[in-house]
Amino acid sequence: EAFLEGIARLNPRLNAFITVSADQALEAAKASDARRAVGKAGPLEGAPLAIKDLFCTAGTQTTAGSAILGGFVPPYESTVTKNLLRDGAVFLGKVNLDEFAMGSSNKTSAYGAVENPWSRANDPDTRLVPGGSSGGSAAAVAAHLALGATATDTGGSIRQPAAFCGIAGIKPTYGRCSRFGIVAFASSLDQAGPVARTVEDCAILLRSMAGFDPRDATSADLPVPDFAAACARPVKGLRIGVPREYRLDGMAPEIEALWRQGLDWLVQQGATLVDISLPHTKYALPTYYVVAPAEASSNLARYDGVRFGLRETAQNSDLRDLYERTRAKGFGAEVQRRIMIGTYVLSAGYYDAYYLKAQKVRALIRRDFEQAWGQVDAIVTPATPSAAFGMDEKQDDPVTMYLNDVFTVTANLAGLPGIAVPAGLDAQGLPLGLQVIGKPWDEETCFSVGAAIE
Ligand code: GLN
Repeated sequence: EAFLEGIARLNPRLNAFITVSADQALEAAKASDARRAVGKAGPLEGAPLAIKDLFCTAGTQTTAGSAILGGFVPPYESTVTKNLLRDGAVFLGKVNLDEFAMGSSNKTSAYGAVENPWSRANDPDTRLVPGGSSGGSAAAVAAHLALGATATDTGGSIRQPAAFCGIAGIKPTYGRCSRFGIVAFASSLDQAGPVARTVEDCAILLRSMAGFDPRDATSADLPVPDFAAACARPVKGLRIGVPREYRLDGMAPEIEALWRQGLDWLVQQGATLVDISLPHTKYALPTYYVVAPAEASSNLARYDGVRFGLRETAQNSDLRDLYERTRAKGFGAEVQRRIMIGTYVLSAGYYDAYYLKAQKVRALIRRDFEQAWGQVDAIVTPATPSAAFGMDEKQDDPVTMYLNDVFTVTANLAGLPGIAVPAGLDAQGLPLGLQVIGKPWDEETCFSVGAAIE
């Protein structure tokens, strides 16, 4: 009830929730109390969570932040949300995101922008973005409108909004969480993960979300470790990689200082720093912005006005006209841009030059990390190149927006786990985050190092 009251009070300003499921939440909470009364409490019993509106929830509208899915009520539950329900979680509702998870500001949502709860801290006129694409998830958690939230990360969408909102968020190893029932953006990069106020809360949530699922062919059949236990593990003796190539030209001095501070904390706790090189880092953004739109253009072909959500037709419409009207009206500008780029790089004549080349470079980026794991146990970098920016900044320039993802896309291209941890404040008092990248399937070290920084 307290969370629902908070939502009623703050959501009109923040716009974090697209759908509030008040009645279902209260009913679920009651069932939870009943289970607790008979000693049958699950690990998340009664925990009020927000669900990114990219996860299909049976009987509850799932929009993916797009007008094209307005009114779409899935008949089934995603595996990740099903796992959370199995463990006793209570869903408060569905939270806002960039349309089809494409963006870094939450401004591409067809359901309106989300405001970062840290906005107006110093200046009542400055409204800040929460980051994206999981902006609603991060804003809801930061504003105490949920204890934690599900999110997804294709190129940074868990870690960047977590950093912008001063909370923690982990993108696990590709294959750790099932993608079944999550609206697809770029299938070889998409991973689900939690955002929460602490590293340990993320660990508890991830343990419930993760696990093998035969309905996702890329889901890994591996045991799910006790991530919360890893949070208490000392970092003494760990070798922390500091990749040279992440020290960007013109990097903001406060980001550089934050990074140094985080590394100092780890050294004080007995970790050692190792200077490493990930030589293909500079190709990560261009590679990502070829691979992700290519996969998106293919995944989004299914929104044709016939099978889901919006249908735009006119008198004498033929099938092609129905497709064109529906997609022209239903997709926003950023999604249309990605479809255009994606179909271009996949088209005969350009495929070798762009898509195939990007796949090759992706393999080199992956290899950079494989070599680094010979020398280090984890890699620490800044999570974002800046603190949260103003709602009106970076408005018309997609490329500037893409640069936000410079520190995060590598983990997706290489399939690695990465956690964003709140690590300090900038000169304006806005939160900044650090990122810990781990070896494949070694979220535990991400949690240990993340908890040591936090
Ligand atoms: N900002 C990146 C993009 O726009 C990443 C988004 C994501 O991780 N879903 O593609």
